[in-house]
Amino acid sequence: MATIINGKEVAQKIRNNLKEEVTELKKNGKILKFAVIMVGDNSASKIYIKNKSKACEEVGIDCEEYILDSNIQMKELLDLINTLNEREDIHGILLQSPIPKHLDIDEAFRTIAPSKDVDGFNPVNVGKLCLGQDCFIACTPSGVMKLLEEYNIEIEGKNAVVIGRSNIVGKPMLQCLLNKNATVTICHSKTKNLLDITKNADIIVAAVGKEKFLTGDMIKEGSVVIDVGINRLQDGTICGDVDFESAKEKASYITPVPGGVGPMTVAMLMSNIVKASNGRLSAKQVPSE
Ligand code: NDP
Repeated sequence: MATIINGKEVAQKIRNNLKEEVTELKKNGKILKFAVIMVGDNSASKIYIKNKSKACEEVGIDCEEYILDSNIQMKELLDLINTLNEREDIHGILLQSPIPKHLDIDEAFRTIAPSKDVDGFNPVNVGKLCLGQDCFIACTPSGVMKLLEEYNIEIEGKNAVVIGRSNIVGKPMLQCLLNKNATVTICHSKTKNLLDITKNADIIVAAVGKEKFLTGDMIKEGSVVIDVGINRLQDGTICGDVDFESAKEKASYITPVPGGVGPMTVAMLMSNIVKASNGRLSAKQVPSE
């Protein structure tokens, strides 16, 4: 029977520590400010933004919200990003995805200054992550790494399997695990013999977007199972990519949904904003021991 990883508790601890740090910075006259941009009227995005601004409030970070009309042109979006880039009082900028199809999200991410890119999607930060350099790391994979660290789960030398290769979860997840010396396999919809791969994994991260995709019979006894999935069911509840009931019988550690990785994503965003405000980002190598 697995130990249930309590992401809610770890995330609360992180927010408490950040609150202390932010209070200290305030005493020294430094006010932290975060700008979040949303384009159009996406109901899921609205919920995400509400959660982020609530967390900002708790930690003591000011949050400016920019809700842009879905018909805006690229120039208007880039002008706003450039204005925020130049403002010294803004420490972090986040563009909530998705944005309308007529806009180029890659160009928008490229335009956010790497030093304010608290979501870690600018190619400069993505490249630095690949090079093992200090950078802003996408919040969900860095939240997963934090959970593994908090529960003293060994990564070095382990067979880690990531299911899903999105730019926001799967690929940075692969890189984070590799930087900690795991042997990493990344799977996707064209992967053959998925079962052979998952059965051999010491650590599995499921980021597929399909409810109860990973079942207990697909994993090995004693494996660590991290469920990134958030799938909304018809009854309004949410469910992960892992069949929790069958997987928890075989895993040594497992994250629940909700209360696992989800709260960590927002906590790591807060952590990245504080890091951005401190100008802590440096070119130094992250040790890979
Ligand atoms: P995407 O839809 O962008 O990626 C899904 C990935 O799963 C793709 O790489 C796809 O492969 C792969 N996949 C689909 N079907 C299979 C299959 N049968 N076998 C193996 N791989 C498969 O999703 P995201 O990465 O954005 O999100 C994944 C999940 O995580 C979602 O449920 C999302 O809601 C959740 N999420 C949770 C967050 C959190 O804070 N906890 C944050 C972000 C996302 P291919 O590339 O070949 O299409």
